[in-house]
Amino acid sequence: MKNKGLLVVISGPAGTGKGTVVTELQKSGNVCVSVSATTRSPRAGEVDGRQYHFLTREAFLQMIEENGFLEYAEYVGNFYGSPKKQAEEWMQEGKDVILEIEVQGCQQVKKNYPSCISIFILPPSEEVLEQRLRGRGTETEEVIQKRLARAKEEMPLSKEYDYVVVNDRLEDCVAEIAAILQKEKSKA
Ligand code: 5GP
Repeated sequence: MKNKGLLVVISGPAGTGKGTVVTELQKSGNVCVSVSATTRSPRAGEVDGRQYHFLTREAFLQMIEENGFLEYAEYVGNFYGSPKKQAEEWMQEGKDVILEIEVQGCQQVKKNYPSCISIFILPPSEEVLEQRLRGRGTETEEVIQKRLARAKEEMPLSKEYDYVVVNDRLEDCVAEIAAILQKEKSKA
């Protein structure tokens, strides 16, 4: 019988570079990355259906009603959720699925899918985190401050995760996570 794929939650404060880490893991070709739905507006260069499915608040609430999410949460004034159908299909096909989501979402996934694997990515320091958030150059000062405050709240929650990985050098961080996934697959 074919094994079901792993469900892997990756979290970390905004600015840890987790998006880049996930993109690199995806390039390795061994994992599927869930495309979340959100009510936030697209940033420059973001394409509907690629980084996110950009939904109105009404459409998002409708999807909640229809039980269409594995998990969802409100984050700095917007809703974010992982569509259930695609992720479950991939897992049934034996593919490993990555959810790049924040901490409240991870708590829901752990409750509903206890066999999931959770990984928290930390920045090397708070200074580096702030530099990375500012370096993005896409957010207002108010949003940067809110995201920094949220990051400080989230970091202690890393202890609820199965693994904590520091993203200092990108290649090392990606290699470390790939090794974790390999180890977990051999256990499954
Ligand atoms: P951003 O607006 O920077 O793209 O994302 C903000 C936060 O929302 C990040 O921590 C990201 O991981 C999280 N996020 C993205 N998609 C989802 C989702 O589907 N569910 C939850 N709970 N969080 C998400």
